[in-house]
Amino acid sequence: MHASSAPDHIARARLPRWLLPPQWPTASHQPELATLHLAHGKVQGVAPYDPTEALQGATWDVAGALVLPGLVDAHTHLDKAFTLPRMGVVKPGLLGAIDAMMVDRQGWTEADIHARASRALQWACDAGTVHLRTHCDWWEPDAQPLAWNVLHELAHDWADRITLERVSLIPLHLYADRSTAMRLAATVAASGAGALLGGFVHSTNWNPQALRHLFEAAQHHGLDVDLHVDEELNPGAQGLATTAALLQELRFEGHVVCGHTCALAAQDEATALATLDAVAQAPITLVTLPITNLLLQDATTGRTPRQRGLTLVKEARARGIPVLVASDNVQDPFCPVGSFDPLEALATGVLAAQLDSPFDQWSEALCRADWLRQGARALPLQTGDAADLLVFTQADHWGFPSRSQARVVLRQGRVTSGHAPAAWHVADTQPQRSMA
Ligand SMILES: [Zn+2]
Repeated sequence: MHASSAPDHIARARLPRWLLPPQWPTASHQPELATLHLAHGKVQGVAPYDPTEALQGATWDVAGALVLPGLVDAHTHLDKAFTLPRMGVVKPGLLGAIDAMMVDRQGWTEADIHARASRALQWACDAGTVHLRTHCDWWEPDAQPLAWNVLHELAHDWADRITLERVSLIPLHLYADRSTAMRLAATVAASGAGALLGGFVHSTNWNPQALRHLFEAAQHHGLDVDLHVDEELNPGAQGLATTAALLQELRFEGHVVCGHTCALAAQDEATALATLDAVAQAPITLVTLPITNLLLQDATTGRTPRQRGLTLVKEARARGIPVLVASDNVQDPFCPVGSFDPLEALATGVLAAQLDSPFDQWSEALCRADWLRQGARALPLQTGDAADLLVFTQADHWGFPSRSQARVVLRQGRVTSGHAPAAWHVADTQPQRSMA
């Protein structure tokens, strides 16, 4: 007998502490196990496991297996994914990778981008990702890149499995002229739902006036903003601090995400913490990209890196700043490894940033889609939410995310990847029906 591929109940699930209400019972300092009730592809309720409760319908007894809501990958580059195998030698560091990409992109076609991005989405889907934000390189002030349309088409095609958002990754100098900035924002805003205004903000292209234009243009066109900011270890980088100040000054109404912000780790403590205080006020969501930061920061041929290159994730979280962990580049000149599995990024972050309680605390950084948008905060897996779940068949909370590769993914209550072990099967009685 196989376990049902669309259970009505998942009993004895170990949910992360961040997801549970404060009054949830504990035993030996661990949250009690839960029963999740599902119906019609939605969550009907989550309650502490009660061994006396008679469950009607197909039930999995997962015997304490870790369970997470569907994953969010807040920062990827689907347009560039899987380009590395066709490139020659790439110079180390962020700027060398950009040079290699500029050469390769001359040969891009819609079919090439579609094939690579589709493969990326399939991997993300298998991993259990339900919300994915991709940046898209954008180099011309008056022409949108080929990939922008391809990604829009893919967002439509994948809408039943993954919410795909697109960010225009525009170098800051293109915003230097205010009317060009307005034109770029108008083009992005006109390109349909799920589009955000983006930019690459680095000390090599620093221009505070251009950054102001970017936010003015986003404000004018009602766009949210997602920036690559201070992806460097130059303590003089001012992108994040200036962004926080601009949001206050302009009374910016959209939502703002800043990715990377590595420079905080290179600045003196007082300066960095003052910037984080301003970020908490703004408010800004931070996204940390441990895999690419470890690879690209403090990178010189033949020399062992001395610095880790990650932003100040613990200090940010301590200030109530939403911090997400994401994949970034996968198998392109920026990063030879990666798998569009957010758990792989978290595993890297656990080591690089010495994160405590990866399951009970930091798995939140892979699950909060609400941290990517304006509005009230909403925890996942509330009654009425889609039953998008990951059940880990081998991981435990002590070692998590080690052994988290083995997982069963449910989308809208149905298994879409992995196999529910037969041992989970308890009962497969038909739900009781009222007599006609
Ligand atoms: Zn990136």
